[in-house]
Amino acid sequence: MGLLEHKVALVTGAGRGIGRAIALKLAGDGADIAAVDLKPEFCAETCDMVRAMGRRAWAYGADVASAAAVEQTVEKALADAGKVDILVNNAGITKDTLLMRMSEADWDAVLNINLKGAFLFTKALARAFVKQRSGRIVNIASVIGLVGNAGQCNYAASKAGVIGLTKSVARELASRSVTSNAIAPGFIETKMTAVLGEDVRRKLLNQIPLGRLGSAEDVANAALFLASDQAAYITGQVLTVDGGMVM
Ligand code: NAP
Repeated sequence: MGLLEHKVALVTGAGRGIGRAIALKLAGDGADIAAVDLKPEFCAETCDMVRAMGRRAWAYGADVASAAAVEQTVEKALADAGKVDILVNNAGITKDTLLMRMSEADWDAVLNINLKGAFLFTKALARAFVKQRSGRIVNIASVIGLVGNAGQCNYAASKAGVIGLTKSVARELASRSVTSNAIAPGFIETKMTAVLGEDVRRKLLNQIPLGRLGSAEDVANAALFLASDQAAYITGQVLTVDGGMVM
């Protein structure tokens, strides 16, 4: 029997990369999946893969930065699945450039999707979690939110914000047995990091004690643990999944 038998997980940015890996990992341990991406067709393939594993799956299109879209999506997911037990706030973007060149639009886009998106989904599901006296919130932050990075002040601020959100929600909802934790991935092989040049890649590898970039599955394994009953006594924490880069 899987760790998440009879559970329903809502995963944002589930169409590819880390979000898809998390959806498949949770489904592999028994969860049904409410998959969210900008358009339903973007996560249709993920849903097909979940169904092929014998689990139920629903695809929703929503911009995580839109309060109205998030509220509608949560309403629909609660109606379709009957309940939601696990929320994974994974959708995220980068718009990297040096501070002095960064436009207000680049700042707003990254903060709106990475930070406000996590706030909106958490708020939209909080009532259901409190009512059912259980819930798991897993936010995908980044090591950049811990240490900062030249050229990523918008992204670093958004991910540091996600960590603050995670801890505050953990304190607010703990009395109802709802946990809230973050994962801070290091450099993971996805479309987001595919743009890195060979030179940057080589320099990065020198900073990673385990000597390789991470896989989306490395992050998904941590998400499965934090989403399960095995992590019932863990809340307000940031689990770094980065091959030892930040310690
Ligand atoms: P990715 O391959 O670019 O996937 C991001 C997913 O989020 C895509 O499915 C994308 O949909 C979706 N998305 C983007 N904006 C959205 C919006 N406004 N509303 C709904 N969905 C939206 O990225 P990834 O590498 O898997 O990253 C996933 C998360 O991990 C992000 O939060 C990222 O910051 C974090 N992270 C990644 C790394 C890494 O090294 N890759 C390291 C640390 C943290 P579309 O297909 O429509 O674009």
